[in-house]
Formats: sequence, C-alpha cells, structure tokens
Amino acid sequence: MGYDVHPLVSGRRLVLGGVEIPHDKGLDGHSDADALLHAIVDAVLGALGERDIGTFFPNTDPQWKNVASTVFLREAARQVARCHGRIINVDATVIAQEPKIGPHIGAMKAQIAEALNIRTNQIGIKATTNEMLGFVGRGEGIAAMAVASIELPEDHGQS
Ligand code: MG
Repeated sequence: MGYDVHPLVSGRRLVLGGVEIPHDKGLDGHSDADALLHAIVDAVLGALGERDIGTFFPNTDPQWKNVASTVFLREAARQVARCHGRIINVDATVIAQEPKIGPHIGAMKAQIAEALNIRTNQIGIKATTNEMLGFVGRGEGIAAMAVASIELPEDHGQS
C-alpha cells in the first residue's frame, strides 16, 4: 500500500496520474509532486518488500527536481521485473476537494499502464472529495492512496 499528500499552491502545474489537469493551483514538491503516482510507486515497492520512494529518489537529489513522476513509476516496474514479479493489479483513490478528477481517469490509466507495462483493465482509479473536512476539504492539498498486488517467485527475498 502507498499513501501520499502534497500541498496545493498557486503557480504550479497540477499533475495527477501523469496527466496535467487545468486548475488555478498545482501540487508543490521536489518532483512534479504527482501524489497519485507517488502512492502507486510506494504500493508497488512495498509489495516487493522494498523501502519507500524516498529511498530510491531522495528529494534532496537535484536530478529529481521537477522530474515527471512517470520516471519513478518506470523504476518501480523495473524493480518488479528484477524480482521476476508480475503486477496483478493496482488500485488507487485520489482524495481531492477540487478539481473534478473523474473526467481524467481514462487518461491517467493510460499513463500508468504504459509506465508499468500492464493493461488499463489491471488499474483501478477512484476519486472522492473529503466532504469539505480538513486540509483536503479546504483545498490545501491533495492526497492519494494505492494498493498493488504482485505475484512473486516463492524464493523472492530469500538469500
Ligand atoms: Mg510525494
């Protein structure tokens, strides 16, 4: 499983699920701050028994500054292949008060499928508001949660 949140600020592009969404604010962070892709990366790495996205891509490293998070997702897929694993499915929820996420889900699935080298019907993406509650409800940030199932050889991780 993976969870991520980034603050919404003026003067940044809003990129979620690898898709740029028109909005008056964008997510702030070292990379493109794509909270949905970061949650999925952590879900995939976690299913492999690996450590989190920050271990692979430290936010103190200038080479990841403003980078598209599809780069991180591709690396997660590379780690699955290295472990002779197979992604069974990925499921995610975006929690955002606004903008509306629904119209962009198809494009997000296409981006994620391409980066993970799986089919779009192996990917679930849902979106919900936070019923105006808390920092998400006030539009101060966007959160995302994801789970990934991966089939691995029985001797995975044994030395
Ligand atoms: Mg993040």
